[in-house]
This record gives sequence, structure tokens and C-alpha cells, in this order.
Amino acid sequence: MTSQASPVPPVPVRSLAGRTALVTGSTSGIGLGIARALAAAGADIVLNGFGDAAGIERLRAEIATETGGAVGFIAADMRKPEQIAAMIAEVESRIAPVDILVNNAGIQYVSPVESFPLDKWDEIIAINLNAVFHGIRAVLPGMKARRWGRIINTGSAHALVASPFKSAYVSAKHGVMGLTKVVALETAEYGVTCNSICPGYVWTPLVETQIADQCTVHNKSREEVIHDILLAPQPTRRFVTVEEVGAVAVFLASDGARSITGTSISVDGGWIAR
Ligand code: NAD
Repeated sequence: MTSQASPVPPVPVRSLAGRTALVTGSTSGIGLGIARALAAAGADIVLNGFGDAAGIERLRAEIATETGGAVGFIAADMRKPEQIAAMIAEVESRIAPVDILVNNAGIQYVSPVESFPLDKWDEIIAINLNAVFHGIRAVLPGMKARRWGRIINTGSAHALVASPFKSAYVSAKHGVMGLTKVVALETAEYGVTCNSICPGYVWTPLVETQIADQCTVHNKSREEVIHDILLAPQPTRRFVTVEEVGAVAVFLASDGARSITGTSISVDGGWIAR
């Protein structure tokens, strides 16, 4: 045996006990699925995102009861760099160091390039790309000092390939992939990993909104949009589930994944294998 690393034990059920995870955009959809999965694996969780206060409090209490872990919520707006920095400072001063940062908040808008609204372009770049940078920038000093950290970005199949009418989204997600690689290189010797999970179509409110938009752009019915457009590139012909994405996040956060950094893991039903 020439390996210098100690053997990696099998992933125990509560493999993330003692870790604290901040998941942006976790009041809904994929972020909520990732937060639930990390909490089930033993991590304490800080939720973030929009929604009505009572609904968010119900979710927070539900996850805490289900898992027995601590679950908090901070309502930072991911369009605002100062709110992102303040959120991370608050978690680290009031709750615990951020061991796992999941940059997940994201929005979509579908339009041809020449009529793409300028405010939508700016908003998508701000939430889907800039916020990832601001979050990483704020957690890295602590992670490097503690010599342990996991940064998991929600990319997309659209971080790797393009589709028409999604210029801002595809640009932002490709940018996230570039940032993932740079951060991985800068942190490789500090016990910190940075990766992107790249889902295909997952049934969430974000996709529900897209269906309506795509009906207009393509002049197709809802069923035609789901079958002919959304699931056409996805060979499994079914939506990915948030639980499937959550399971990959738990793995990436585990010690078994410590040599995986600067890469993407596709959870896309075979989309980019074409
Ligand atoms: P969603 O609409 O269900 O959830 C988005 C989350 O982000 C919500 O919690 C929302 O409150 C939050 N959010 C939006 N704007 C915010 C802001 N300014 N500040 C703070 N929080 C904000 O969408 P989803 O489908 O779960 O998408 C989550 C991520 O997954 C996004 O990055 C998206 O690009 C990515 N993704 C989704 C799919 C899919 O098919 N649904 C596929 C690939 C990647």
C-alpha cells in the first residue's frame, strides 16, 4: 500500500453530526430538499429564502422535530451583497461556524436575447452567480482557519450545456462552474472542497413558472412543453427529485468525498451524456 491518506470509513447514517450547514434558497424546492437531507444526516441547519413567515416557521419546526437537530432561519436577500455577508457573520457569531455552505438560491427567466429585459439579466446574475461569490468569500477565512469546509453550489445541466432563451441563466450557471474550479484550487490544501451539483429538470416552483413562460415563447400547451421541451433532453423522461439531489449533497459533505473538488456531479437523468 502506497496511499498516504488514512482509510475512509463507510458513511455512517448521521455522518454530519456536529456540522453546521447554511443552505441559501432553502424555503422551497431543491434547497429545501438539500436542507432536509443534510439535517437527516445530522447537521444543524440554517435556512434562508423568501416566503411567508408562518410557512417558513412551520418548515423550520418540522425539520427540527423530524431530525432532532437545531434549525434556524435568516431572511437575507441574495441580491444584496451586504445582507449575504451579514447573514454569514450572524450565523458564525450567534449559532456556529459555517462548515457547509450550499449556494442554492436561484431564479430563472426565459426570453430571446434581443428582448431579454435588462432588469431580469441583472437580477439573475446577482442571485445565481454574484451571491455564490459573496457567500464563498465570507465563509472561506473561517473554513481555511479550521481546515475543514464544504462548499456545494447548485449548478445545473445549464452550467455545462446551453438551451435557447436562457441567456442570463446559462451565463450565470457557467460562471458558477468556473468559480467552483477556482475556489477548489485556492482551497485544495486547506481541507476545503468546492463542487457543483448539476441537476437536470427537477419538479419545483421554479420549473412550474418556466412551464408557463415556455408555453408563451413556444406557443405550446402545458403538456407539450413538459414532454417536448423540458423532458426531451432528459433520457430518463422523468423529473429528477429533490431527494436525489439532497443525497448527492450529503455525500459531497461527507469525509468520503474529501478528494472530490473543483468538479460537477450531474444529476440529470443522462442529459449531458448525449
Ligand atoms: P425554487 O423557486 O423552488 O426555490 C428557489 C429558492 O430560492 C426559494 O427558497 C426562494 O425563496 C429562494 N430565493 C429566490 N430569490 C431569492 C433571493 N433574492 N434571496 C434569497 N432567496 C431567494 O427553485 P428550485 O428549482 O428549487 O431552484 C433552486 C436552485 O436549483 C436554483 O439555483 C436553480 O437554478 C437550480 N436548478 C433548478 C433546476 C430545476 O429543474 N428546478 C434544475 C437545475 C438547477
